[in-house]
Amino acid sequence: MKKGTEMIKHQDMSQRMYEVKCKDGHSQVLTATELEQLIRSSEHECPDCKNPLLTSNLGLECFICSSMFTVSSLEEAEDTIDTGCMDCDERGFHEDSIHINNSWGYFENVYQWRRNNNLDEEHLRRKGRTDFWEAVIHFCKPHEFASIYKEGKIKAGKTGYFGVPAVCLTEIPLGNWKDLRVRHGDFGFVFLKRDLIAAGGGPAIYLSDELIRAQKTNGGFCEEIRPFLNLLRISSVTPGKLRHDFMHEREWRLPNDLLLENTQPYAIIVGNYDMGTEGWEDIWRARLEVEELLTQEDEDTSQGISKSK
Ligand SMILES: [Zn+2]
Ligand SMILES: [Zn+2]
Repeated sequence: MKKGTEMIKHQDMSQRMYEVKCKDGHSQVLTATELEQLIRSSEHECPDCKNPLLTSNLGLECFICSSMFTVSSLEEAEDTIDTGCMDCDERGFHEDSIHINNSWGYFENVYQWRRNNNLDEEHLRRKGRTDFWEAVIHFCKPHEFASIYKEGKIKAGKTGYFGVPAVCLTEIPLGNWKDLRVRHGDFGFVFLKRDLIAAGGGPAIYLSDELIRAQKTNGGFCEEIRPFLNLLRISSVTPGKLRHDFMHEREWRLPNDLLLENTQPYAIIVGNYDMGTEGWEDIWRARLEVEELLTQEDEDTSQGISKSK
């Protein structure tokens, strides 16, 4: 986590829509990003009657100092954006800093600003320890990442030998993730092992058929162990049965939902996304709040983030 930041439950501002109208009442309803694009396009006439487009008290925000600027027409909005924030200008920040809150441009600028000004970036890289590190990762797809972040929890799903609920993570260190990211998703939440252990998690247990049978004839497995148990299978022993190499995954499990406010992510892993990605606002919010793990591997596989035009 970045110093001094907390996981914050956000109001769902992403659903907010904005209405623009001309004086004859022709109206359009737009998202924050669409409205900001329209303002910056300089096309401020009603498409039907060519009268100026108006808004009712639209608030523009300087992302640096949080000053609000209230405007009532698109033309006024563009002037305000072009003029910039006087306070910030006086302090030497010559940025294009005024946006509609929660537009793509807003998130993107805040993110770049924080990154450029964040001097205490910490990463989990450990020199000389390529097969081990202190972290475990829950890999997931972008829309899953967004909803985990928004809901503040990773839900336990049925898994393992007994099919009982657990959250699955991997301890595979950085540089070996390609297969995992293809299988589970390009995004991830990174936790410290000690935090996961404190929450009741630990490495999955792999036992052969014979050992599982032996235990069953001796009273079976207690409830607490069940979420951790996996059948030991090796692709060379049972060829064709395996769709992927479980032994390589080096799984960790948590036998209940993982609550982000109790077990805070040490970092996040961010793959590709754009404005078409379900929950992109929440992905930006996560990037603003949690340190991002940037790896060489990311740079190799990433196609870059699409920017709004
Ligand atoms: Zn009109
Ligand atoms: Zn400002």
